Amino acid sequence: MASAPSVQRFPLAPALTGAAELSSLTELSNFAAPAGLDPQLERFLHQASSLLCQWLGQAESGSPLPALSVLPAVEPEFDGLPAERLLADLQLVMEGAFNPNHPGALAHLDPPPLAASIAADLICAGLNNNLLAEELSPSLTRLERSLCSWLAQQFGLGDQAGGVAASGGSLSNLMALVTARRSRGLGCRADAVVLCSADAHVSFDKAMAVMGLPAEALIRLPVDAQGQLEAAALAERLDQLAAAGIPVLAVVATAGTTVRGAIDPLTAIAALCRRHGHWLHVDGAIGAVFALVPLQRQRLLGLELADSITVNPQKLLGITKTSSLLLLAEPALLQAAFATGLPYMEPSWGASHGGESGLQGSRPAEILKLWLGLRQLGLAGIAALVDGAIQRRRQLASLLAVDPRLELLGGPLHLLAFRPRGLDPQGAEDWSSRTRQALLAEQLMLSRPWYQGHHHLKAVLGNPHTQTSHLERLARIVQENLPHG
Ligand SMILES: *Cc1c(COP(=O)(O)O)cnc(C)c1O
Repeated sequence: MASAPSVQRFPLAPALTGAAELSSLTELSNFAAPAGLDPQLERFLHQASSLLCQWLGQAESGSPLPALSVLPAVEPEFDGLPAERLLADLQLVMEGAFNPNHPGALAHLDPPPLAASIAADLICAGLNNNLLAEELSPSLTRLERSLCSWLAQQFGLGDQAGGVAASGGSLSNLMALVTARRSRGLGCRADAVVLCSADAHVSFDKAMAVMGLPAEALIRLPVDAQGQLEAAALAERLDQLAAAGIPVLAVVATAGTTVRGAIDPLTAIAALCRRHGHWLHVDGAIGAVFALVPLQRQRLLGLELADSITVNPQKLLGITKTSSLLLLAEPALLQAAFATGLPYMEPSWGASHGGESGLQGSRPAEILKLWLGLRQLGLAGIAALVDGAIQRRRQLASLLAVDPRLELLGGPLHLLAFRPRGLDPQGAEDWSSRTRQALLAEQLMLSRPWYQGHHHLKAVLGNPHTQTSHLERLARIVQENLPHG
């Protein structure tokens, strides 16, 4: 067994090393005293947040992806641990954590955490309310309802619009399809299909499995050179399905594909859905937040024609995970799909209990960190985040485009994938793996998606700490690692 690492190797917060501090911390009780402020709890939370702030502040001196670290013991001991050992254990786990606050963290849709969101997550845990039912979350249920309505209205879904928070976009997408199926009376049809593009998210494959539909029920249509669903191919397929009498459960358009940030032609797809009477779900897990910025809205024309929209504020805005919403023009359809009656709860005094408006039962008030985060950013702050991300994507694209050996796959958002021209799949795999390592050695982390038969490198430029100098270094390392000839 590995011996416990010394305190020197993983220094704790300075205040923690004082002996007097340690002895008072040992008195931490399991539950906060209900009859007055609990000084031990207060100090414990101060110390924990101090550890966190130090970790966030040391991001740049480390790597986005640290080497494997020593983990503390996982099993509880017979006697419960005192506060200082809990904090030391926490510190060990933190040492091995991926650090989204590092300016070179450019691999995924996981930005640094927003300050207000961190605080709201702590408060959320402390309140320990339950969005299952109103009496378990009176203020938070109303907050969720109101914020979902506001966001849905911002996206143009209308005065009656609303929705529900979900623990991730995969769940939002699943709930959208279940709601669509129910609204079209297709619950018993084993032959119903869903149409989407080849680049739509893998969560739709999972949704098919959960809904008891065969994998082939998800019809993936080709994308054009920009990675957008071809509306003409969709039109043709919808006509064929209609002629064959095969029911369509929903059409999925993606606003921001995962590899290159492409936006499907929403208006044209919506027109086809209207003509056939099909449900339009827009997976805007990545792209929908861009519609909150007036100057970006034109990229998302047609979003307002959706029946349902998935949006993941966790992906660019820095709302701490998880933060996803399913928004609908007619939120009552959510209850039609999911309400079972909650016989052990008081009747709802609003629209419906949270646990009746989606798949999840007990769930945390994830809305709190979204609400406080948006309030901290303000509309100008949201615009600055979005514009900065697009600006960095443009900057990196022009740095890389200098070399004609590279093929760039971008879209209008903040994602950029690329690979050298003329490599076979094995060559692309070797190149991507070698280059990712070379980048990691200089604290730059990119991802390596397999896309259209080849590995690529992909940069997600949502990290506000990333500077021009990081992008220049990135482009230099990429060029140094290009295959010769
Ligand atoms: C990330 C993503 C999802 C899934 O969201 P999770 O929160 O990871 O479940 C769905 N669709 C798209 C386009 C995504 O990029």
